[in-house]
Amino acid sequence: MSTAESFPTRLTELEVARLRADFPVLEQKFHGRPLAYLDNANTTQKPRAVIDAESHFYATDYAGVHRAVYELAERATRAYEAGREAMRRFLHARDVHEIVLLRGTTEAINLVASSFTRAHVAPGDEILITEMEHHSNIVPWQLACEASGARLVVAPIDDRGELVLDALEGMIGPRTRMVAVVHVSNALGTLNPVREIAEIAHARGVPVLVDGAQSAPHMPIDVQALGCDFFALSGHKMYGPSGIGALWGRRELLEALPPWQGGGAMIESVAFEKTTYGPIPSRFEAGTPNIAGAVGLAAAVEYLEAIGLERIASHEQQLLAWATEAVREIPGLTVIGTAAEKAGVLSFVMDCAHPHDVATILDREGVAVRAGHHCAQPVMQRFGVPATVRASFGLYNTREDVDALVAGLRTVVEVFR
Ligand code: PMP
Repeated sequence: MSTAESFPTRLTELEVARLRADFPVLEQKFHGRPLAYLDNANTTQKPRAVIDAESHFYATDYAGVHRAVYELAERATRAYEAGREAMRRFLHARDVHEIVLLRGTTEAINLVASSFTRAHVAPGDEILITEMEHHSNIVPWQLACEASGARLVVAPIDDRGELVLDALEGMIGPRTRMVAVVHVSNALGTLNPVREIAEIAHARGVPVLVDGAQSAPHMPIDVQALGCDFFALSGHKMYGPSGIGALWGRRELLEALPPWQGGGAMIESVAFEKTTYGPIPSRFEAGTPNIAGAVGLAAAVEYLEAIGLERIASHEQQLLAWATEAVREIPGLTVIGTAAEKAGVLSFVMDCAHPHDVATILDREGVAVRAGHHCAQPVMQRFGVPATVRASFGLYNTREDVDALVAGLRTVVEVFR
């Protein structure tokens, strides 16, 4: 287990206190207590910088984007495109045309699953995913398999919640067309060795899609260094607005994908006889986009960059280490997901109470956690539990939040055991 000394770059207590002041929601009390918001894997709270950026945009620069001739619309287009550029920078992508702005991770994976499969997958081909995927990296591929006659192949995880890499490697065969893998598991916290997976898959000519919903908010992301081919993320999990996110795709691969949704903005010309499609990324952005969302997303990226993703990662590792250590003292509590490399997610079950009862008691003590299957039912089945309680950390969490969690768990033991 890590110690405080292992985190030389982490945020100081004073810095976290200052950061907390950026988040208006944290000023409230719940059940007479300060809010210990530990549901960050579900969604994150918003700093004033993001809230203000969106409302300022609506008040001063809002109009429809693209094909603009009047100044206001040009301003709106520039602001929207600045969101795309912020995403490029955040992901360390080479080319801004590789960034498709979408609703979020779910939409990004659906786009690839649908388009890629239509273009490149035949009956009898295989799509390889893992046992720890979120439903949004399972169901789109099942739909794609149904449509194409391909087969879904699932790489196993072990009892700690780590991917069995040898097994994954052995499952990549001549019919494998895509490896789709989560970067950080939302249910277990496991951090997957994406770079290694990409090397293994690429050695066999297979592209790799990474579900980055849970990694992007919590560690520096460099898609070029990761070596993957597609990377999906959600703005709302990284302190940005909901309803906006991105797909990054390697240029040559994106260019080889047929359009997904049809409509305005994605075409070059339309006639009843024949329609031609626009270049990337607009080919994949049919309809009026979440314009203000892109503005808020850029503000979130700037906010995170100003703090530094390395320091956020260190801070959250420290919180995870504290919490993991502290819950060992709680009788009848079992942590689900004990991988060597984890991000700030602590999933657990208690022998005395159902996860929903645990979460209800914690709520009364001002501690917000999630209880359920976390949209990862196969993970629950793998560990033989119907649900877990999940505490997940963000940049504004403190030692006090961890203490409140642990105190709440002691109450659960008193009430139920
Ligand atoms: N993948 C993972 C690992 C997630 O945790 C989530 C959200 N819980 C998603 C995908 C889906 O993200 P969204 O709902 O923002 O599309």
